[in-house]
Amino acid sequence: MDTTVEQENRTPEPMPTFEEFGLRPEILKGVTEAGFRSPSPIQQRAIPIILSGRDTVAQAQTGTGKTAAFGLPAMNAVQGSNKVEVLVIVPTRELASQVSDELYRLGRYAGIRTVAVYGGQSIGRQVELIRRGAQVVTATPGRLLDHLKSDRLKGFNPSIVILDEADEMLDMGFLDDIEEIFGYLPTERQTLLFSATMPPAIRKLAQKILKEPIEIDITPKDTTTNADITQRYYVIEEREREEALVRLIDTETPGKSLIFCRTKKETDTLSTTLVSRGYAAAALHGDMQQRQRDETIDNFKQSRIDMLIATDVAARGLDIHDVTHVFNYHIPFDSDSYVHRVGRTGRAGKKGTAITLVTPLEFKTLSRIMSTSGAPIVYEEVPTIGEAKKQYQNELIGKLQHQHINEEAVELLQQLEEELDSSQIACKAISLLLGQQPVAGPSRIGFSSQEVERMLDRFKRRKRPKPRPRRGTSNRMPPRKQRR
Ligand code: ADP
Ligand code: MG
Repeated sequence: MDTTVEQENRTPEPMPTFEEFGLRPEILKGVTEAGFRSPSPIQQRAIPIILSGRDTVAQAQTGTGKTAAFGLPAMNAVQGSNKVEVLVIVPTRELASQVSDELYRLGRYAGIRTVAVYGGQSIGRQVELIRRGAQVVTATPGRLLDHLKSDRLKGFNPSIVILDEADEMLDMGFLDDIEEIFGYLPTERQTLLFSATMPPAIRKLAQKILKEPIEIDITPKDTTTNADITQRYYVIEEREREEALVRLIDTETPGKSLIFCRTKKETDTLSTTLVSRGYAAAALHGDMQQRQRDETIDNFKQSRIDMLIATDVAARGLDIHDVTHVFNYHIPFDSDSYVHRVGRTGRAGKKGTAITLVTPLEFKTLSRIMSTSGAPIVYEEVPTIGEAKKQYQNELIGKLQHQHINEEAVELLQQLEEELDSSQIACKAISLLLGQQPVAGPSRIGFSSQEVERMLDRFKRRKRPKPRPRRGTSNRMPPRKQRR
């Protein structure tokens, strides 16, 4: 299994552990066997509250580990009776079996028996499995209500009831069913409601079925891109990626940088190029030996290299505090990975810069990322070689102004003054320094702002829906068949 990078989480900040919750050892074994190393944010917040017995309303995006967030504390409370102690209500069959599987996986060492209950399956068999002593039932509303109404579940008294993916229940029109189900449940119970979003109808439902709940909300804010990160994109042609990246590295003068590529091969090629151009860069990808990867990450942390060229997978969980720049050598496909990548910089209140290279063919992806993540990514032109040189010169001036004069230099100057006057010496010295400047490459890289504006305009116009032809008014088009 691919664990190297996740282990990186342990340093430099101690990561919270599952042990800290005081879960039973048998439950912890399930957690370890599932490969969970550290609780996710929703798990960190929800588990202690649920363990304390309070009703809980928790809001967190998909994929944040909500199942274990309610499943672990709920199963921790299971007494091992032969009765249903935990009821999870989920909106779909797929979720019923998925959640049930996950709960089984986490609870198996505690001897917890789980059953999924949903439509389209034999009623008799479901009832039989429950009667045989399942303590955790994961059910869809329709089938559950069916069982309850026909009184097939004798002595059904779950002490913990969880409504999972509540907003989806609403979308699927299950709210009435849910309310009805709660009419059959014991009033003395702990109720938990989990949802990715919290529309008013769900809030209202929560007021009805929960008692003085504690509310947890870990949606975006710090997971979408934060305000300390400046985000820019540059429009280039496919063949210009390398030159554009190098030009931007030279003009940005970044500290530690993460450069994201799409493939392992690309990270290798790019790191070879950058190293040969004199940058302290290294690739990080899943095919590397664990020791080699640990070493690379350590080199980056200790600033022996200052550019890490990585794939999304390799960079997962990488927590390095002083990354000044994130470069998207290729734009990621979806906004989650964009947000994730960009979130590697601007950490712990520091400023960061995220730079994305796009070709006109990638406008669509860019536009999708901007609209779903809400990230304020602004367009900029790749600096010309003239601008890059100018910047190098300004930096040189700054350096000269602050340069400490050492004794050897004074001696050398006296020697030189025997043949040259001081302004000649100064000019020659500066020429020497300028000769060492690394700025190279083509004069112009990428499209100009006018070109980009025209392209964006065309792109937007293409995206706008075409006006519908009104029936009878067009004499060019044949009458359409009725839609639908
Ligand atoms: P959600 O319900 O919030 O959409 P899930 O509970 O389905 O998320 O979890 C998403 C995935 O993450 C699952 O494959 C789950 O096994 C995994 N997962 C959950 N918690 C952790 C953790 N602490 N460490 C690693 N993986 C986890
Ligand atoms: Mg879920």
